[in-house]
Amino acid sequence: MRAYRFHLLLVALCVVTVMLVISVSGQSGQPVSLIVRGGTVVTMNAANQVIPDGAVVIDGDHIVAVGATDDIARLYRSADTIDARGQVILPGLINTHTHVPMVLFRGLADDYALSDWLTKYIFPAEAKTVSPDFVRIGALLGELEMIESGTTTFADMYYFEDATPAEGLARAESFIEKWQNDPRITPAVAPHAPTTVDAPVLKAARALANKYGVPLLIHLAETRDEVRDVQQAHHASPTQYLESLGIWDGRSLAAHAVWLDDADMKTLAKRKVGVAHNPGSNMKLASGIAAVPTWIAEGMLAGLGTDGAASSNDLDMFEAMRLAALLHKVGNMDPQAMPARLVLELATRRGAQALGLGDKIGSLEAGKLADLITVDMTGARQTPMFDPISHLVYVSHGDDVRTTIVGGTVLMQDRQVKTLDRQDVLNDGRRMAEAVRRAVMPETDARIR
Ligand SMILES: [Zn+2]
Repeated sequence: MRAYRFHLLLVALCVVTVMLVISVSGQSGQPVSLIVRGGTVVTMNAANQVIPDGAVVIDGDHIVAVGATDDIARLYRSADTIDARGQVILPGLINTHTHVPMVLFRGLADDYALSDWLTKYIFPAEAKTVSPDFVRIGALLGELEMIESGTTTFADMYYFEDATPAEGLARAESFIEKWQNDPRITPAVAPHAPTTVDAPVLKAARALANKYGVPLLIHLAETRDEVRDVQQAHHASPTQYLESLGIWDGRSLAAHAVWLDDADMKTLAKRKVGVAHNPGSNMKLASGIAAVPTWIAEGMLAGLGTDGAASSNDLDMFEAMRLAALLHKVGNMDPQAMPARLVLELATRRGAQALGLGDKIGSLEAGKLADLITVDMTGARQTPMFDPISHLVYVSHGDDVRTTIVGGTVLMQDRQVKTLDRQDVLNDGRRMAEAVRRAVMPETDARIR
């Protein structure tokens, strides 16, 4: 009996030793480039699966697997790992409408209605200051802000102010030719709005977009004034006017759509137009409340955006999520009009679909691009956490993002931005803002900080 017991003990020890050898040497499992593990994974897949102690496996620019940390540890090995304990791991946020370089006009002209704000302040400021250098410095500053607040995809509309429409289209075409095969950049043609661009140029913009199979981006029905002006000039709503010109005949993304009627919504749904909702900008410019819950019921492809920082002052998609949730509750006098889960869908999976990128980004699933972020949930403000989705929408700020990964490349880890020199970007932004101040406020000598 003793010998037999001893024998059993020996066998057990041998098995334990072999298991220890395997795990210490890391020889088991498929080799991959990066594993983010130990966090609460909010996948945003079609089943809205949440994995309490989960991991995301990345190889190159793609996600290879998503699962429980223990299971992943058995199946995959990687020299690089990111420990996400105490954090939520979720798809990078998708900003479906912004004007990134306008961060350099942040706080320049607050508290005006859209028409005054544009014509008295922003268009003159742009005419005096926008240059390739302005756009480059503003874009880097905006991108730094987005990396630090967890945005991994954005739809941008911006331009060089000196271009006439013909020059603008020629420039757009060379831009498309330069970038059409880039893995990170989808070039697009972006006529500003139905009230600021005339019909022949709108049609030429559509034709150019379709020639290359790229999207057309446009502002739509942002204010009641726009609807009135288009109605007077063309005897149709902005949506139907653009429909009559064939503008929706191809990949399209419309921003705002605050003032739609039922027929407009049906047209936009039928034409599969992505529509960007910008609650912060719509509230601040007092443009109105878009009928987003009705959009979704009508089958429209809705996403969420911040608009430019000149109108909504920052590019924080967490703030956009919270504003969207609260705006539609009070707008409909119904706390269930815009639940947290739906808002998070707008900022991830639905936003990807609105951009026509639903098969590539917007959820954490094998085969999709490795665009993901981790969000700290250990502070006083996040304690306790019963439901990570509630916290992401109602508690989290952009500053809570710890890690930002785009296409498998770690852009920020533990809040250290790795791909930009943060101080250089901030210094250049302040220097360019000083030039903006001199151009538009020469009578003041206040220093830009
Ligand atoms: Zn805009």
